[in-house]
Amino acid sequence: MSIAGIREPFRVIGSLFYPALCAVCDDSVATGEYLCASCRAKAPRLNPPFCAKCSEAFPGAITSAFSCANCAHRTLHFEAAVAVYRSRGIVRKLLHQFKYGQQRHLKHPLALWLSETLDDARLRDRRFDAIVPVPLHAARERERGFNQAELLAELLSGTAGIPLHGALERIRYTTTQTAYDRSERMANLRNAFRLRKNVDVRGWRVLLIDDVLTTGSTLSECARVLKQGGAISVYAATAARA
Ligand SMILES: [Zn+2]
Ligand SMILES: [Zn+2]
Repeated sequence: MSIAGIREPFRVIGSLFYPALCAVCDDSVATGEYLCASCRAKAPRLNPPFCAKCSEAFPGAITSAFSCANCAHRTLHFEAAVAVYRSRGIVRKLLHQFKYGQQRHLKHPLALWLSETLDDARLRDRRFDAIVPVPLHAARERERGFNQAELLAELLSGTAGIPLHGALERIRYTTTQTAYDRSERMANLRNAFRLRKNVDVRGWRVLLIDDVLTTGSTLSECARVLKQGGAISVYAATAARA
């Protein structure tokens, strides 16, 4: 068999996993790209001003230091949670199809949006010892077939050269958070996470990863557990912010 004959099946398999079509509009794109230029341009960015701690957008101009309503009167255990994009329009659509529609290949454009957080001033010059994905409960992961945060964290780990570590596990099967307000979310999450057996995070500077940041309660609870285990700092990054 010629070399070309051997290579051909690999090319075909490769194209099944990485179709050179825009994930949103099916326009053709260059190999290795997942969105066409026009769809990329439509992804809504999180524009300043926003909260330095939780990235909540603040409407209007800021003339003095403002306190964020999302952060007020509670302790968020991460140093900062960073997203570059808003979960609106095509960003929201892709996140939804990725998570609930079994469209695993969408991890690629989502991981690109996630990786842009590393250019944010809050993360740019930091060193991280580990990238840790927010875990799913084992039963939820079986149901879905994958952990969306882990797939994104894996890709980011590869591009950023930071080791991936599944340090956390989710031990409570919490009901969906969407119907809850902020304090109910916090209560619902109590004791939902713990460090995996024999994992030692002492001295670690952690970059915690999730697909989307809503109120920050989940990320905060994960950060609390990591710090209780001895992590020095926990920054969080997500593909988008609600
Ligand atoms: Zn497109
Ligand atoms: Zn805030």
